Order: sequence, then structure tokens, then C-alpha cells
Amino acid sequence: MRARKVRGIARDTLQFILEASRSSLPVEFAGLLQVDKEIITEVLILPGTESSRMSALIRLYMLPNMAVAGSVHSHPSGDLRPSEPDLIFFSRTGDYNIIVGPPFDEQSFACYDGAGRRRDLAILDVEFKDDGFDDDFDDDDEFKEDRP
Ligand code: ZN
Repeated sequence: MRARKVRGIARDTLQFILEASRSSLPVEFAGLLQVDKEIITEVLILPGTESSRMSALIRLYMLPNMAVAGSVHSHPSGDLRPSEPDLIFFSRTGDYNIIVGPPFDEQSFACYDGAGRRRDLAILDVEFKDDGFDDDFDDDDEFKEDRP
């Protein structure tokens, strides 16, 4: 199930992504983006290597009722252009694929559609009712242990 309409990403969600990417250095951070009320508000963390990402993706797609808008991952090199494996990955995840890099501020990201074309993504100020982000954030061992 794909999320069809996306207005943008919640500022808190982007901040979470940037912070998680910074703290997972030198390992790449990767996740899937989920949408609530047309706004990207959730990140499901994937193992960080390009080879393991596919199998994790397939497992996650088997979860019920998951509307995935796309993906996010970091390029510790700071080059925000997608690699060949990234383009294959994007074609399977959705139309909003974010790549972040140093210095991990609100300007250091790029968004691509499922065909790898650069697109704009608005940063929106929204309020959250739950605190699910903090739970995810404490789990950062999950993506550190999966190194090649
Ligand atoms: Zn990449």
C-alpha cells in the first residue's frame, strides 16, 4: 500500500533523521518513511548497508497496514546524489526518498521520486500526540550491528 498524497515532512521527523544519521556515523543510517494525514511523520529503521537493505525492506513490506511513502538514508560522504543501488531501492519504496549528509542540518538533504528525479519536500511544523520517536531513537544498536 502506497501513500498517495504527501504535503511534506514534519520538522521533528526531519530532526530525528538528521540526529540519527549524525549519531550513526561512520555507518549509514537508513529507514522507510510513513505518512499520517498526508505528512511524513514516522521512520522505520532499516539495517544500514546497501545489501542488507533490500531484505529488510521485503520483511517490512509484509507488515500489515503499512503505507510507505518512501525512504531515507544517509551518505556520510556528503554527496547527496543517489547511487545505482539507491535508484533500484527508490523504485521499490515510493515517491519520496530522502538522502541526508553532513553537516546534518535542515539544508543538508535532498529528496528524489521513485524514478530518481530530484523533488521538493516541504518541512512542516506539526504537533505530535504520541512519543513513539523517542522509543525508536533509543534503539540505535539495531542498525549499528549490521555492518558488512
Ligand atoms: Zn545511497
